[in-house]
Amino acid sequence: MRDKLIVGNWKMNGGLATNARLLDRLASEWRGDGKRALAVCVPTPYLAQAQSALTGSMVAWGAQDVSEHAAGAYTGDVAAAMVAEFGCRYALVGHSERRRLHGESDAVVAAKARAALVAGLTPIACVGETLEQRERGETEAVVARQVDAVIAAVEPETARTVIAYEPVWAIGTGRTASPAQAQEVHAVLRARLAAAHAKDVCILYGGSVKASNAAALFAMPDVDGALVGGASLDADEFLLIGRA
Ligand code: PEP
Repeated sequence: MRDKLIVGNWKMNGGLATNARLLDRLASEWRGDGKRALAVCVPTPYLAQAQSALTGSMVAWGAQDVSEHAAGAYTGDVAAAMVAEFGCRYALVGHSERRRLHGESDAVVAAKARAALVAGLTPIACVGETLEQRERGETEAVVARQVDAVIAAVEPETARTVIAYEPVWAIGTGRTASPAQAQEVHAVLRARLAAAHAKDVCILYGGSVKASNAAALFAMPDVDGALVGGASLDADEFLLIGRA
C-alpha cells in the first residue's frame, strides 16, 4: 500500500502573524506515523518563515509555482532553484488557477515539472477537467492529455513526481467529487503512469476536501492523499484531514 500525502495549498492567503500561529500548531501537533506525510505550499514571500517554523518538525513545505526557466529576464518569476534554497520539498505546478488565470499550457506545466525536478524538488503536477468538459464526456481525454505531457517531460524520473487530480468544478466551490468519481479518474491516471513504469506515483485528490469527506476519499484504492485549499488555512481542520 502506498503512503498517504496531505498537502495544503494556502493560495494567496496569509500574513506573518496568522502564518506563525498556523505553522506553530502544525509543527507542534502533527505526529507523522511513517505512513502519512503532511506539507504546506505557502506563498513565496513566506517560504523563509515556513522553513524557520517547520525545520525539525514532521511537516514539509513547498512552493505554489516555479518558472520553467532556470534564470534570466523573467521579471516577477521565481526559479525552482531559488525556492529549493529555502528547504522546499515540493512545488505545485499547473494548478488550474495558473492554467486559467495565467494561460499556462500543458507544455508550460510540463516544463515547470521538469524544472522542479532538476532543482531537486518533487513536483506536484495538477490536472483536472472543467465542468463543461465533464458534461461533454471529455474528462478522461483531458486528464490523459495533461498527465501525458508531464510524463513526457519528466521521464525517466516519473516516479519522483506527484500528480494531483483536481476537477476544476470542485475547487473552492464546496462541491466535492464523490469518492467513486475521484476513483474513476485516479484509475485512468494510474494506468497512464503504469504505462510509463511509474504505477506507484502518489496521486492526490483535490477539490473542497474537508475533515468530513476526507476519510471516504482516502478509502479509494487509487487516492493517495489530498491537495487541500481552503481547509488548509484552519489548523484544526487541516490536522483532522491529515489524520482521517
Ligand atoms: C486547491 O486550491 O488546490 C483546492 C483544492 O482548493 P479547495 O480545497 O479550497 O477546493
